[in-house]
Amino acid sequence: MPQIKNLTVLGTGVLGSQIAYQAAFHGFAVTAYDIDDAALEKAKGRFSQLAGIYVSQKVAGAADGKAEAALDNLRLSADLGDAVAEADLVIEAVPEMMELKRDIYRRLAELAPSTTIFATNSSTLLPSDLKESTGRPDRFLAIHYANNIWVQNIAEVMGTADTDPAVFDAVVEFARNSGMEPIEIAKEKAGYVLNSLLVPFLNAAAGLVLQGISSPDMIDKTWRIATGAPTGPFQIFDVVGLTTAYNISAASPDAGSQAFAAYLKDNYIDKGKLGVSTGEGFYKY
Ligand code: NAD
Repeated sequence: MPQIKNLTVLGTGVLGSQIAYQAAFHGFAVTAYDIDDAALEKAKGRFSQLAGIYVSQKVAGAADGKAEAALDNLRLSADLGDAVAEADLVIEAVPEMMELKRDIYRRLAELAPSTTIFATNSSTLLPSDLKESTGRPDRFLAIHYANNIWVQNIAEVMGTADTDPAVFDAVVEFARNSGMEPIEIAKEKAGYVLNSLLVPFLNAAAGLVLQGISSPDMIDKTWRIATGAPTGPFQIFDVVGLTTAYNISAASPDAGSQAFAAYLKDNYIDKGKLGVSTGEGFYKY
């Protein structure tokens, strides 16, 4: 099985910065790549913010120096060739645009050592949509994280029919060694496991409100009491952010999704109620 010691993360936005910091926190040598120095300056800010969050949220070992030590395991680069020269694994977390991702894999194929494994963190694209551009489909797969990875610490690992099983196992092992709970997905599926469950659940909740059957707080209460879950669907909407929920609903051709987008816009978004991030969404925080 390939050994993974050096990680390179492409893109240092919301998820890329978390993936890089989490691996550095667990002792991996991490290079974070982004397009220019301005983006890397932002990344520095994100990394020190994450160090503070790990301490304040009491991640094991963070207060004993690990949060600070993680920063020493992180190197920043705006030169793709330099960033991947020593990489055993490259995790790509660049914007969710097919052509942009394909372009970066084509460049990576030229620049990275032939042994380097490539993994995408894409939420909505299948690894099969990208594999040809990697030039190494046997060493390519998806590793999908959830936001706030230090607490919601799953990593869904999903290959294509071409992924070498030893590569799959190496990435599962990397996930485990970087503090994640690996979720091994046996067959390629849009939405992985998490979103295959969550999206229909949230849509069903939206439908109950739109049809006037129940209210967000009653639906959440039902779900919490009856299943023992800590949160109901509208509490989840508030965490995800109502702008994201609106964008996804508005982009869907389905009539129910369109109606939910309009409902979110009129009742929440136009009133500045965007969820937990603004202090109010379906609930006040
Ligand atoms: P983001 O917009 O916060 O960050 C994207 C980063 O990529 C930015 O720092 C940007 O400068 C950089 N970038 C742009 N073009 C680039 C290029 N050509 N090469 C390298 N870097 C480039 O995006 P995000 O929310 O972190 O999402 C990134 C990926 O992670 C997407 O595929 C998304 O589906 C996935 N994802 C996001 C979440 C989430 O909750 N935000 C959760 C799971 C997976």
